[in-house]
Amino acid sequence: MNGKVYVIDTSGFIVGVQFTDGTMLTVPGVVDEIIDSASRLRFDLMHDAGLRVEPPLGVFKDKVVSAAASTGDAIVLSQTDIEVLSKALELVQEFDVILITDDYAVQNVASILGIKFKPAGSSGIKKEIVWEMRCTGCGVVVKSGSECQICGSAIRRRRAGH
Ligand SMILES: [Zn+2]
Repeated sequence: MNGKVYVIDTSGFIVGVQFTDGTMLTVPGVVDEIIDSASRLRFDLMHDAGLRVEPPLGVFKDKVVSAAASTGDAIVLSQTDIEVLSKALELVQEFDVILITDDYAVQNVASILGIKFKPAGSSGIKKEIVWEMRCTGCGVVVKSGSECQICGSAIRRRRAGH
């Protein structure tokens, strides 16, 4: 692996990005999130084309978590988002990294950490992802917060309609 590395998050597989001028890489958490058959097929094709799947080193996760806390993005970042950012932060020490993500919170934390990013939507067919904050207990959709006002369960961000 040398030169340019594209670290691709889940949105990259929904859109179907393809880069030939560098190494394509993603993390195991993203692979777990690719469940629809079209995205799965794109992943398989990219994997055949040399896409790597590598977990991040733990030390970079801590840096990502504290950066996210400083921007207020910590509550909306999923474990997978943290994994993707950690891997990008790890690789940026050595390579020219471009993080491919449509997630605004991930983009925000990436800019704090000095990681370049590019939306997946600009390099393929656009498909808008709508996010919502939903209670993991009673399922109510809320605007903000980390704890449900109704049942006290944790609020998690997820794609609307899922
Ligand atoms: Zn609830």
